[in-house]
Amino acid sequence: MKVIIVGGVAGGATAAARIRRLNEHAEITVFERSGYISYANCGLPYYIGDVITDPEELTLQTPESFFKRFRINMKIHHEVISIHPERKTVSVKNLENGEIFEEKYDKLILSPGAKPTQPRLPGVGIDKLFTLRTVEDTFRIKEYINKNHPKSAVLAGGGFIGLELAENLRELGMDVTIVQRPKQLMNPFDPDMASMIHNEMRKHGIKLVLGYTVEGFKEKDNGVEVLLKDNPSLQADMVVLAIGVTPDTVLAKEAGLELGIKESIVVNDRMETSVPDIYAAGDAVQVKHYVTGNDALISLAGPANKQGRIIADNICGGDSRYLGSQGSSVIKVFEMTAATTGINETNAKKSGLDVDTVILSPMSHAGYYPGGKVMTMKVVFEKETYHLLGAQIIGYEGVDKRIDVLATAIHAGLRQPS
Ligand SMILES: Cc1cc2nc3c(=O)[nH]c(=O)nc-3n(C[C@H](O)[C@H](O)[C@H](O)COP(=O)(O)OP(=O)(O)OC[C@H]3O[C@@H](n4cnc5c(N)ncnc54)[C@H](O)[C@@H]3O)c2cc1C
Repeated sequence: MKVIIVGGVAGGATAAARIRRLNEHAEITVFERSGYISYANCGLPYYIGDVITDPEELTLQTPESFFKRFRINMKIHHEVISIHPERKTVSVKNLENGEIFEEKYDKLILSPGAKPTQPRLPGVGIDKLFTLRTVEDTFRIKEYINKNHPKSAVLAGGGFIGLELAENLRELGMDVTIVQRPKQLMNPFDPDMASMIHNEMRKHGIKLVLGYTVEGFKEKDNGVEVLLKDNPSLQADMVVLAIGVTPDTVLAKEAGLELGIKESIVVNDRMETSVPDIYAAGDAVQVKHYVTGNDALISLAGPANKQGRIIADNICGGDSRYLGSQGSSVIKVFEMTAATTGINETNAKKSGLDVDTVILSPMSHAGYYPGGKVMTMKVVFEKETYHLLGAQIIGYEGVDKRIDVLATAIHAGLRQPS
């Protein structure tokens, strides 16, 4: 069996390794456009902030180490430029020498991820305006900082990447502003919970410009002017656009695969696309939200890895199913930890669910023992049945453990005690 995988990071590398574990004879080739494979995206902002100082910590695996361990061909700097389902081949461009060749597959796995959303605004594309997706993007930002010593940064977007970058740039001593169209940071949290994140950010000197829309960018005074709708502009030495991600599915589209929200790839619960022998995983696919059952895009590493493993099982003769994403996540916000799973009250109500919430303030460990810290926990449950639907926790210690327990409880269909 010859397996070709497009994308060698979360979903792609995981699928490749598991196929090898399940089938020692499969011929597995992974094409990766960038120069790196199987790296920790989640660590990239911390390299920029000097928390991770050795670049090798980010890129633990190399094509050589992967081949030695798994006998998998990892072809970096190779971009798959088209899929030909009718003859079961892909066209690949070697980005180092421009050579284009065609390669046959029995099974094809797409895990091309998502690209930073680039709004069509004046000034997008100018120097000093960055996005963060790959190791190369990370090195570009780091090199700019090391060379030019910028004193200020504007981050357009207050989601996971915006927050992590804000913290890391602030730790480097920069004056940091986050601009965000919604009136709160971190949309997975309800406004009452997000306000605690706002306080922590402000306590550490991050300026929050919430409820404002960015209209464009202009080079000015050796920096960037960020134009805001109906408001005075902001000025900074550098800008990072982190307003979200869009599935990177041009290949799938051109090959005629069925597409869903934001042109994501539609898959069934075996992660099969609409075209036989083509599977897809990760940020590029549309999933079912585990709680609402609605179609959703949930761009997180956990689902990508899980889906990669499910594809491997199915390709190797098993029958594994992906039941949906719950969106569980944990983020560090300076000294605090903020975590969420399932749906929040705002989204539950938007989905037409009749919900109630409880807010609790448990200690991180038994109250009688010194050093415990209070956390705030908001649990969303269905009013009539008491079924747990979501939870948000903000605190200092033990937040990740409790959100794990609640995520498991939601997955198991448990109820809030009545
Ligand atoms: C800065 C940052 C921080 C993050 N932090 C977290 C976090 O803390 N927790 C979390 O759960 N998630 C985090 N994520 C999200 C997480 O990294 C993604 O959800 C996950 O990597 C998705 O896996 P994937 O396999 O779909 O795509 P990716 O891991 O992005 O891999 C896709 C790869 O495919 C390659 N590719 C695309 N098209 C082609 C082509 N045509 N030919 C060849 N190669 C191609 C790309 O170069 C890319 O390397 C973060 C992401 C970023 C960018």
